[in-house]
Amino acid sequence: ILENTGNEIFTSIGEVLKSKPGNVVIVPHENPDGDAIGSAIGLGEILCNFGHSVKIISPNDYPAFLKWFSTEIEILIYERKKKRAKNIIENAGILICVDFNEPKRAAKMEDILTGFSKPSIMIDHHPDPGDFADFLVSEPKYSSTAELIFDVVKKIGLDNYINQASAEALFTGIMTDTGSFSHNISNPNTFEVVAKLIGTGIKPEKIQANIYHNYSAKRMKLLGYCLNEKMEIFPEHRAAMIYISQKELDEFEFQPGDTEGFVNYPLSVNNIVFSALFIEKKDHVKASFRSKGNFPANSFSEKYFDGGGHLNAAGGESKQTLQETIEKFRQLLDEYKHLLLKTEI
Ligand code: 5GP
Ligand code: MN
Repeated sequence: ILENTGNEIFTSIGEVLKSKPGNVVIVPHENPDGDAIGSAIGLGEILCNFGHSVKIISPNDYPAFLKWFSTEIEILIYERKKKRAKNIIENAGILICVDFNEPKRAAKMEDILTGFSKPSIMIDHHPDPGDFADFLVSEPKYSSTAELIFDVVKKIGLDNYINQASAEALFTGIMTDTGSFSHNISNPNTFEVVAKLIGTGIKPEKIQANIYHNYSAKRMKLLGYCLNEKMEIFPEHRAAMIYISQKELDEFEFQPGDTEGFVNYPLSVNNIVFSALFIEKKDHVKASFRSKGNFPANSFSEKYFDGGGHLNAAGGESKQTLQETIEKFRQLLDEYKHLLLKTEI
């Protein structure tokens, strides 16, 4: 189902990756999620097994629920180790960007990525890719970058290097990007890939537990508080939002990743097709959007919140205060009422 990517490119990518072992750097997007980290580790493990020396450099830190993988690959946090990260990239012969479509999604690493002079490869499933890598594999119909990586690896004939460490990481990417196999699951290929990954002997129940049953008690209380006190439903707009201030996060001893998934809850309310989550950060408000059916969360976010993403899952930010941001959202809902009402799910 590799629809957008011509066959020639796989020959070229195969030549780049299989000519001789060398130094490879893999970069996920800023605030990496399960698919970004899972794709980076999954591909990294395969390339390591082939003989490459692989490092993963994440623009910033990632949540604790993604820190249990059985990989030996070093994952550097660019924000914390700029000098070392730059040095590693300078000595790399190949750069691979996973799970993002534009260099600005790598935040402070943007210039390093665009300035990389040796072969670069982008593997991603977000729509509207920018033209920043030498080899661009962009397949928006895929559930996840992790599923796509499996097919790319197969296509270039590196699939016999898939081990359990790579399979558990790729499985994690598919599992988290489909909301544990609840959305983006109409393509049989997703389950064929999952079947092959499970066939390596990984323990899917353990991965489920590592990701979804690994929260602090405070996080569960924060979720309860948000649903009780901070969720606003707009039934006449078929929309909902949750908003959290920095003060509230402090009260619940917020840890990175604690609010992951909160934005999905309002969509479980009968007839709601659009959900927003606004989280107050130090100098901006982080926005997350989820939608059902054909309501475009990504173009909404792009237009009003300097962001983007997928049709049904997008992110962005606001430089206004939290209060101003939620007021702006309320007003936008009025403008979008017509479209929201006719959204088909
Ligand atoms: P989340 O709400 O989980 O942060 O992001 C949902 C989806 O939108 C993910 O696929 C993520 O990669 C994408 N996304 C999040 N923030 C941004 C952004 O600022 N710009 C773009 N283009 N995509 C984003
Ligand atoms: Mn993804």
